Amino acid sequence: MEKHAVECIFCDITKGKIHSYKIYENSHTFAFLDINPRNPGHALVVPKKHYETIFDIPEKDVCNLFKSVKKVSAAIKKGMKADGISIAQSNETAAGQEIHHIHVHVIPRFSPEDPVSIEGMLPLKLIKKREFPKIAARIRKNVPRK
Ligand code: 5GP
Ligand code: ZN
Repeated sequence: MEKHAVECIFCDITKGKIHSYKIYENSHTFAFLDINPRNPGHALVVPKKHYETIFDIPEKDVCNLFKSVKKVSAAIKKGMKADGISIAQSNETAAGQEIHHIHVHVIPRFSPEDPVSIEGMLPLKLIKKREFPKIAARIRKNVPRK
């Protein structure tokens, strides 16, 4: 049994046990309309294997996931005549993740719309110039070598 796969809505959706409006499927991934869309055509792309977050999913599954995100993005842009596409992906409760099966939101955007960018939902923070090298160093030393 895969980790935490018990009673996962998105696992049930990929297995067809719960109905969804499927838009794409291959052997690794499944894409379907979000039930509470931010715009018409808002879709979710998920791996068929259950991983909770970006921290759990192996690199090869991330590659497969984003290959599907690219396909689905192009189909949504064309099919919905969108002006742009936002891609969003939340990890852990602090980031607003509600369903703990990793998923990528593909959201068609129609101009004019506010906020224009997804990151625009967070207010800008005033961070002093001298803090930037310290922040960069803290992160850099945690980047895996390989
Ligand atoms: P999160 O906040 O975890 O990034 O987003 C979870 C998304 O899943 C939400 O946008 C929510 O509308 C969507 N969602 C939750 N339950 C269901 C469901 O049963 N079916 C579908 N199609 N979408 C769901
Ligand atoms: Zn799952």
